[in-house]
Amino acid sequence: MSRVYNFSAGPAVLPEDVLKKAAAELLEYGDSGQSVMEMSHRSKEYQAIIDECEALLRSVMNIPENYKVLFLQGGASSQFAMIPLNLMTGSGKADFVLTGQWASKAYQEASKLMGAENCKVIASSKDKTFSYIPALDSADFTKDADYFHICMNNTIYGTRFAELPDTGNVPLVADMSSCILSEPVDVSKFGMIYAGAQKNMGPAGLTVVIIREDLIGKAKEGTPTMFDYKIHADNGSMYNTPPTYGIYILKLVLEWVKEQGGLTAMKARNEKKAAILYDFLDQSKLFKATVEGKDRSLMNVPFVTGDEEKDAAFVAAAKKAGFINLKGHRSVGGMRASIYNAMPCEGVEALVAFMKQFEAENA
Ligand SMILES: *Cc1c(COP(=O)(O)O)cnc(C)c1O
Repeated sequence: MSRVYNFSAGPAVLPEDVLKKAAAELLEYGDSGQSVMEMSHRSKEYQAIIDECEALLRSVMNIPENYKVLFLQGGASSQFAMIPLNLMTGSGKADFVLTGQWASKAYQEASKLMGAENCKVIASSKDKTFSYIPALDSADFTKDADYFHICMNNTIYGTRFAELPDTGNVPLVADMSSCILSEPVDVSKFGMIYAGAQKNMGPAGLTVVIIREDLIGKAKEGTPTMFDYKIHADNGSMYNTPPTYGIYILKLVLEWVKEQGGLTAMKARNEKKAAILYDFLDQSKLFKATVEGKDRSLMNVPFVTGDEEKDAAFVAAAKKAGFINLKGHRSVGGMRASIYNAMPCEGVEALVAFMKQFEAENA
């Protein structure tokens, strides 16, 4: 067996210890005589798994008591619709910051469902291919908005909100798909946090929603049952069959995060890894990071040579050397190294050594 260094933006690398544990338990979980995949979600064995997963997430993220944790399906993309259907029922207005493709989709879906005239774009960085986080002036914010939406880490463009907008009493809603568990966050500053699991939490198919209790139970009339947060909250994420195996893997990932020292340790590791890569890019004569300064993501690092043929040659050579999924998103071009929690520091060091060698050979 030979495992590569996988820089995929998602589905992405998982901790090797987690995969080994899952492999060891694949045929029989505990002394249950069955795989977690085969278990009834109504069984007491499975209830213990989902309860433990929630308890671990609450402890790792320090989630306050007045927030519900929901384990859903449909990806972060379904949340783009669920959020307006559930939350835009007070004043019927919401604010958006357009910092990339995902942030824009959250805006477009809300516009489609609740009316474009009710959705305000506070700022956008589209003018420069979303390569920065735009400055926000709170005087522009809608005072009585039902929520204010941001995409905390922009997976495709490699930017992140280093500081949160101060939205006062307006609930801040954040797509944290590609940065959840990467560093501590103060959950109490948010009305709702959501994330698809396949970046930092586990396999695709599980979506985690962390929502303040007072925001639940206000869904627009006619909202499909499966799209109503209240149904899932009232039924402990068991209204229908939850993504059982994904929740089990998330439990293992959370145990791993805890063993590593929790989110403070994750942050230190992630800052160290990102610094190794950005420091190299900043002095390289061949490669250049596409994002500058404090907006740089710790999780997704896009870079270019400025020459499409060289980019393609680099991606091909890297793949041969065991560094896979480094091709950038088609809207940015070049390369992108996603260095989520599970990417070891040695993986980033080895990548930089390979880039140095490629640079020397292609000067
Ligand atoms: C990957 C990603 C999405 C899309 O997630 P799905 O689970 O595929 O719907 C949305 N937002 C962000 C920030 C992402 O990184």
